Amino acid sequence: MEPIKVIATVIIVEILLFFLTREFWCWYFKINEKIELLKSINDRLTSMSLITEKHTNEKASKEKEKEPAQYKDLWYCEKCGCVNSSMDNVCKKCGRLKSKIMI
Ligand SMILES: [Zn+2]
Repeated sequence: MEPIKVIATVIIVEILLFFLTREFWCWYFKINEKIELLKSINDRLTSMSLITEKHTNEKASKEKEKEPAQYKDLWYCEKCGCVNSSMDNVCKKCGRLKSKIMI
């Protein structure tokens, strides 16, 4: 038998043996245990990041609420001086059209 064929046969047999005893090696080197542990760590980190994200969003929305929103998008009526919301296109008091001057 040629040496190359012997080497190839040995390699193939070793590969087959590895696949047949794969579970044993996974158990021996605790690979399955490590995978389970990494999955649980990943799950916990994901839930923690979701909680942190939710908390950050709540904080941001609270800060937004604290902002004086009523001063943000207002306009003065040129005719009567009434303060109107930017949502209104006409003055709520006198009915004049919205001016371009925003405060
Ligand atoms: Zn007005």
